[in-house]
Parts: sequence; structure tokens; C-alpha cells
Amino acid sequence: MSVDAPHGDSGRVPFLDLAADFAAVADDARARIDSVLASHAFVLGPQTAELEAWLAGRTGARFAVACSSGSDALYLALRALDIGAGDAVVVPAFTFFSTAGAVANTGARPIFADIDPATFMTGPAELEAALEREGAGAGAGASASPGSRLRAVIPVHLYGATADMAGLRQVAERFSLAIVEDAAQALGAIAAEGTAGACGAVGCFSFYPTKNLGGPGDGGALVTDDSRIAERLRRLRVHGAEGAYEHHETGVNARMSELVAAVLNAKTAEFDGWLAARQRIAGHYRSALSASAEGGLLTLPAETATGAHVYHQFAVRVPRGRDEVALALAERGVETRVFYPRPLHLQPCFAELGYRAGQLPEAERAAREVLCLPIYPSLSDARVSEVCDRLTEALETAASTGPPGQ
Ligand SMILES: *Cc1c(COP(=O)(O)O)cnc(C)c1O
Repeated sequence: MSVDAPHGDSGRVPFLDLAADFAAVADDARARIDSVLASHAFVLGPQTAELEAWLAGRTGARFAVACSSGSDALYLALRALDIGAGDAVVVPAFTFFSTAGAVANTGARPIFADIDPATFMTGPAELEAALEREGAGAGAGASASPGSRLRAVIPVHLYGATADMAGLRQVAERFSLAIVEDAAQALGAIAAEGTAGACGAVGCFSFYPTKNLGGPGDGGALVTDDSRIAERLRRLRVHGAEGAYEHHETGVNARMSELVAAVLNAKTAEFDGWLAARQRIAGHYRSALSASAEGGLLTLPAETATGAHVYHQFAVRVPRGRDEVALALAERGVETRVFYPRPLHLQPCFAELGYRAGQLPEAERAAREVLCLPIYPSLSDARVSEVCDRLTEALETAASTGPPGQ
């Protein structure tokens, strides 16, 4: 039996192992939790302040504001830019729901952009195509049909890879769009154009338990270099209150829990090592799967500069028989996930926006073909090899028995 099968379930490869991450920091986390419990200061206290200071340092942003979740961070960012009813915001059609949900919750209209098939992300070409489809003219106050003001774009650093921020910024500037980065999956990623989350007007992060830095419950944060935006975010997360019971605008309850911040602070000591482990595992996957990639049975994630990808997910594309391959892996004890099976422009809640199937073909194809493999710091080399062996077998079976590919 292999040494990395602690519970005797040899060969089984779970999709996640949150217990191992916690075990590495348990003593400090428990001490911090005890101090929170003893202090009875349960929201927005010293643990939250410590986390904000760490995040500002880690991203290089001047200000960091912690909040209740990544979804709330996106909502607060849009509110801080005065985006609401009558406005429109461009978002990728292929991302987690809340990138678009946050836009709709402000009263603004999401405009869905297609993705670059090589990166799974909306790049400058896809952003421009979406703006053209809306009939937007370049310049300040550009409008989108029917009659809404184009205000912002939300690039998503999907799977932990950095979006093409230099290219997106050029298009955004031409159309006077603010940039709100969804860096929920990309904390710590650094590209030539800057640190994920610190390239635009505001950057949003999530500390959901399964994220690269995950808390014991929901949590999120924002970063910005603009002191007025930072102040506004701090007000909006406490119902818009300035001082005691004085409200010049309505905000929401988006406070961070001290217990969540306490565990996150304990985990920051391990964070760089964890990112390095993810990058090492990704390298192992790349070399072990290169033959299948060359044979056209799968596509590996696009290569990035060192450090520009923190591998929140290792997402491959299986052009033929993705669901059969996932099932075959599950039967052999290897867990995989599909992020995301349905593109957002085809979600029932956005039906009234009038998008049709076939309209954003690359987002739709990605939803049919993407498959995420296990990747987490405690995943051993032996288990990565196990995943690759099982995946290679399943791909070959699907290729020989499956229906002809499109
Ligand atoms: C996780 C995630 C969010 C939302 O974060 P929560 O903390 O779960 O609300 C937003 N966008 C992306 C891309 C995410 O992965």
C-alpha cells in the first residue's frame, strides 16, 4: 500500500483534502480561535484587521477591505463605483455564477462575453465583440442597447490563471469602462501586468472553504489603490453607516467574521508553500499527460509565465466523451469536477436578457468539454500519477468506443 493512503483506501483520489491544509496550521488556528472566543469580539475586530494588512501586502494594493464573501465583494465593488439600475456591465459567460449575479443584484444588466478557447477567459477580442454586439461606440458614456450605460467589465482570473489585463485595459480605456477584477480563484497570482486583483479599480477575493486560501465558512475581501473607494467599501459593508447610526446611503451587512479571519491568518504562513505545491503538481500533470495532449485526446491548460497561474483548478479539455471519461474515473476512485457545466447566458434566471444557445459558442463548448482534476497541496506525486494513468486509460477507451467527435 502506498504511504499516502492514510485511511487504507488505496488508490482513491478525492477531489479535495481540506483536512490536510488545516492540520498544517491547527495549533495557531486554535490559539487564535480561543482568543476570539475569549474576547467576544466576533466581527470586524483585530483578526480582520490583521488579514486586511496581509492582503494589502500580498497584492501590493494600498487598501484591503475584508467582507463576508467573494460574491458580496463583487456586489460592494460595483456599488462603490455607483453602478446600478440603468447601467450595463460586461462579464464572461463562462465563470462562477456570482460574477454575473452580483451585477444583476445591483440592478444593472449583465452583458455576456464569449471566451478565448485557449485560456477559457474573456480576452480583449471577446470583450470588443461583446461591445460591438451591443452597438457601443467608443468614448465616455458609451451606451448599450437597449438604452443602458456601459460602465464596467469584470475580468475573471479563471482557475487561478491571470487574464490578459494589458489587452483588456486597452479596450476598457477606449470605451471608458471601469475594471472590477474577479480574483476569487487567483489570490497570489502575479503576471507581467501586475498582481491578480490589483490591476483594476477594485479587485475581489473569496475565502470560501475550497479556495486556495479557504476559511471555516464564508469570507471575502476587496483591494483598491483609491482611498475614496476603500472608505466607501468600509461604509457599504456596514449598511452604509458613517459613525453611529448615521446613514447617507443604504449598504448591506457584509461584515467578516473574526473566527473566519482567525483561521485565515493562521493559514497565511503556509500560503506561499501551498501555491508552490500546486504549481509543482501542475507541472507533473503536464508532463504525464503530454502524450495524450499530443494525440489530441485532451488539451492542457494554456502555458503562463512562472507565478502567473496559482492552479486553483487544473482544467483540461476533453473534446470527445467528457462525461464518459469522468464516469470512468469515478468508477476507479478518481474524483473530478466540471466547473462550469452551464454557461451563464443560458441560465434560466437570465432568460429575459434574450440570449440564445449557439450565440457564445466557445463558452458553450467549454461547458461541454472542461474537466477539472484533483489539485491541492497535500496531493502526493503517487496520486497524481494514479490520476494520470486512469485518465489516459479512460481517454483511450472513449476515443475507441465513443461517437465521432465534432
Ligand atoms: C468563488 C467564486 C466567487 C464567489 O465567492 P464566494 O465567496 O463563494 O461568494 C466569485 N467568482 C468566482 C470566479 C469564484 O470562483
